[in-house]
Amino acid sequence: MAKTIRKTSKEPIKLPYILLEMFLVTILIISTYLYFDINNKIKKENKSLDNLKNTYEENINILKEKEKSLNELNQQIEKYNDLDKEIENTKNEFFNTVKQLEQDIKDGKSNKKIAYMTFDDGPYFNTYKVLDILDRYDVKATFFTTNVNGKVYYEETDTYNYDLFKEYIKRGHTIANHTYTHAIFKGLYDSVDTFMDSLMRQHEHIKEEANGYETKIVRFPGGSGTAGNLKYPIIEALREKGYGWVDWNAYDGDGWDLRTQSEAWGYLKKSLDENIEVILFHDYCKITTDLLPEFIEYMQDKGYILLPLFYDSVMINK
Ligand SMILES: [Zn+2]
Repeated sequence: MAKTIRKTSKEPIKLPYILLEMFLVTILIISTYLYFDINNKIKKENKSLDNLKNTYEENINILKEKEKSLNELNQQIEKYNDLDKEIENTKNEFFNTVKQLEQDIKDGKSNKKIAYMTFDDGPYFNTYKVLDILDRYDVKATFFTTNVNGKVYYEETDTYNYDLFKEYIKRGHTIANHTYTHAIFKGLYDSVDTFMDSLMRQHEHIKEEANGYETKIVRFPGGSGTAGNLKYPIIEALREKGYGWVDWNAYDGDGWDLRTQSEAWGYLKKSLDENIEVILFHDYCKITTDLLPEFIEYMQDKGYILLPLFYDSVMINK
């Protein structure tokens, strides 16, 4: 009996225990679930954080690369900005050397010879042929430019080729001034002002067409003697503008009524008698263009160095 009583006295305690156990198990299950769920979420979060970190690092690397190429680009731009200066310096150095050589020739210290080939009245459509021949021999020359339409001298020419101004520079030649109008008998030499107006108009024209190139060398249309009494007053006005001027001491006669190549050779051989020559040609003349390759070879055989004119040359009168 006593056992039964003990048994029954324990009965009411068992149920809450079971409930408590169930409750605890439930809590445990929920906790375990929550633990794994949270853990998964954390893992997911970590993974997305890792992804973000990777993306961020990739972006940083891209930015670093971009910054590097930007710096390189800036360096290149700086180099380009310095390029004009560098070209100018190289040109000046070159002309200084030539100037020294000129002086040595004049003083009899050097037996070398220099010839400055000059082409007047262009640019013409024919000028490209002249430029190509000069390129073939790697020879630089000087072009005394004007704005008279080619029709005046060469009836085949019906357009004035402005692109040639940039072409002269590109191919390393010297551009010089031969006045805008070239109107020898139609007003150019009426007064100092008419001459200077035409000079400055061509000065601006060259500057505009040749990317800001400024020349300080002029050749009087027809030669300085054509200016007559105005020659010295004009020279004075040129000096004020910082301009130098040059005539020529050799020619092939292509400014006159030249008919044959042998006639041209006759003039050339007769006039080539100095150690520093300034040779007058016209780039509209077919005879000159045709004899040019043979002429360049002839001059080089005779020991002449063929060069473009420059402001400080002893041949430029100031
Ligand atoms: Zn001329």
